[in-house]
Parts: sequence; C-alpha cells; structure tokens
Amino acid sequence: MSRKILVVEDEPKLASLLADYLKASGFEPSCLGNGLEVVPWVREREPDLILLDLMLPGRDGMEICREIRTFSAVPVIMVTARIEEIDRLLGLELGADDYICKPFSPREVVARVKAVLRRARDGRMEDVPGLVLDELRYRAALNGRDLDLTAVEFKLLQLLAAHPGRIYRRGQLMERIYPDPRSVSDRTIDSHIKKLRRKIEAADPEARIIHSVYGIGYKFEAE
Ligand code: CA
Repeated sequence: MSRKILVVEDEPKLASLLADYLKASGFEPSCLGNGLEVVPWVREREPDLILLDLMLPGRDGMEICREIRTFSAVPVIMVTARIEEIDRLLGLELGADDYICKPFSPREVVARVKAVLRRARDGRMEDVPGLVLDELRYRAALNGRDLDLTAVEFKLLQLLAAHPGRIYRRGQLMERIYPDPRSVSDRTIDSHIKKLRRKIEAADPEARIIHSVYGIGYKFEAE
C-alpha cells in the first residue's frame, strides 16, 4: 500500500509539482493550501508524513506542528523560505523531524521524505555497519580500526550518533560537551568535527556519517 503524504503548501504550482514527484515515486500525495484545514484533516485521515510549509494563510506551520504533536507522532518535515529561520525553529523544539529550505529541488524533497519515513519505521536510523562506541573507555572503532579519538571528539561522535538525522546547532553541541561553553568559540567545534571526520575517513574512506548542514550545524546520518 502506498504511503499517504500530506503536502501543506499555499503556492498551488509548487504543491502540484511536489505532488507529481511524490506520485512518481510511488507515494499517495494530498495537498492542502490553508493552515486552518490541516489539523482536522490529519485527525481524520492519518497521513504517513506531512510536508508542512511555515508561512500559510489561516494558521502558521509552527502552530500547526505544535498542535499535531499533542495527538500524533506522524513525521513532519517543515518547509521554510529562509535558511536563518531553521535555526530559530530548531531552538523552539517544535517536534518536526526535518527541515527543508526553499528553493528546493523536488528530487531532494522526495529523498528527505524517504529518509524520514525510514527513520520513523525503524524507530531510529540504521546503524553504521562496523561502527562501535565504547563509552566506558571513550574509544570508537570503525571496521575494527581504532579511531584514536580525543575525549571531545568521542563525545561529539557519541552525541551526534545518539540521534541520527537530528541537526545540532554548534551552540547546542558546545553546551553539551563543555562544562563552560562560554569559554569556547563556534570555530572550536568546527575544528573538532574536522579532525573527527579525518579520523573516520582514515578508517574508511567511504564512510560519510557526519554531515554539515549549511549555516546551521551538524548531523549524523548513514548514507
Ligand atoms: Ca507559504
């Protein structure tokens, strides 16, 4: 049975373009253009995933997402027109599963839809085969090779890997890793991530597990 995707988008051209791509990928899309229609529709029809535009007539996407979360765990991908907005949305912890910025390619949207559905089905992202984290000894190995991480690199990897697909802002990473995050700069995180990636690549040149999210931060995702 094909999965029902609700596309909430008030630009009719964009909505039908997305619907076409989703249909071509075997999904069953439905489109809504007014924010007020969304919650009743979701309650009644129980879609498998919602693509939710932020700026909508009637009611905005943030409010809708919050309300949906009070009664449903359906995966929600928020769509915004401004990259800076994503940072703010992340801070609000609305419970969305992913964020996409306009303009986007419909192909990318379909790929994100598939990834989010896969994650929802598995309860978590698929493991990275061969990655082993030993919390007691702060050691990580990939394909049997010790990554030889520093304590900070280990904590970063552990934190990112614990929530695959979740985007962390640099500030969030710092808060969780340093006892006093005010003493370090954003760039410190970047340089630790760079070294961590280098060590992962040295163990497995094909492993792409730590991803930069442009203008925001980082996430862990197996490809
Ligand atoms: Ca809009």
